[in-house]
Amino acid sequence: MRVRFLGTGTSFGVPVIGCPCAACSSDDPRDRRTRHALLIESDDEALLVDTPPELRLQLVDAGVGSVDAVFLSHEHADHTHGIDDLRVFSARRGEPLPLHIAREFEAEVRSRFDYIWGDDARAQPGSTIPQLDLRPFEDRDVIRAAGLELRVIAYPHGTYRSYGFRVGGLGVVIDGKSIPEDAMPMLEGVEVLIINALWFGDPHPGHFSIEEAVEASRAVGAERTYLTHITHRSTHAEIERRLPPGVEPAFDGQVIEL
Ligand SMILES: [Zn+2]
Ligand SMILES: [Zn+2]
Ligand SMILES: [Zn+2]
Repeated sequence: MRVRFLGTGTSFGVPVIGCPCAACSSDDPRDRRTRHALLIESDDEALLVDTPPELRLQLVDAGVGSVDAVFLSHEHADHTHGIDDLRVFSARRGEPLPLHIAREFEAEVRSRFDYIWGDDARAQPGSTIPQLDLRPFEDRDVIRAAGLELRVIAYPHGTYRSYGFRVGGLGVVIDGKSIPEDAMPMLEGVEVLIINALWFGDPHPGHFSIEEAVEASRAVGAERTYLTHITHRSTHAEIERRLPPGVEPAFDGQVIEL
C-alpha cells in the first residue's frame, strides 16, 4: 500500500492569503500546503480521501490519472468543495464513481451539490457533471472501497464529527479532536498513523494540537506518525525539529510506503 499526501494544510491553506509570517513567506516548498486530501494506492486501484478546492491541481501535480473510489471524511468546505473535479473520472469510466460518506452528512451533501444529486440534475448539452454513486456508511461499518477494506471510525470534531478508518497497517484520523476510548483498539499498533494537528500550544475545540497528536500517537503505539492539516503558525522545518523520533509533519506531494 502506498499513501500520497495530496494536501496537508488546514482550511485556510499555507500560505494564507496576504499573510507575511515566516511560514507563509518561506522558500521551503514543504511550506506550501493545499487543503486536505490523501490518495491510498493498492495493487492497481486508488482511493481518494476528500475532495478539497485544489483537487485538480493536486492530481495533476501527482500525475494521477485514475481514481476508483472516494471517501469523504466530513462535509466541511475544505474537504468537499473540489468535488466537481471528480467528473473527469466518471466521464472516463463511463459509469458513476463510488463516493462513500457518513449517512449523517448525506442530506447536507446532496442539497449543497444539488446540481449533482438533485431531482433535476442533468448536464447541459455539451457539458458534464460528476456522476457519483453516493454510498452512505455508519460509524464502525466495514466498507470495501477501491479494493481496500476500511474499518470506519468517527472522531469528535468540535460540534461535528469527522470520519477516518483503519485499513491494513494504516490508521487515518482526519479533522478529529480525540480518539474515542472504544475505538482505541481499532488503531492499536498501526504501522502508520496519519493524524490532523494544527499547531503547537493552545488547544483548539475541534482539532488536535501537535502536542495532543503526539500523545494520541503514543497512546495507539504507532510505529510512524505523520501530522497533517497543519496551519501557518510554524514552518515545516521548525515542526520537524521539535517532534520526537517517529513523528513527522507530512508535506504536499510526500509518498510513503507500507
Ligand atoms: Zn478541515
Ligand atoms: Zn502566515
Ligand atoms: Zn472539518
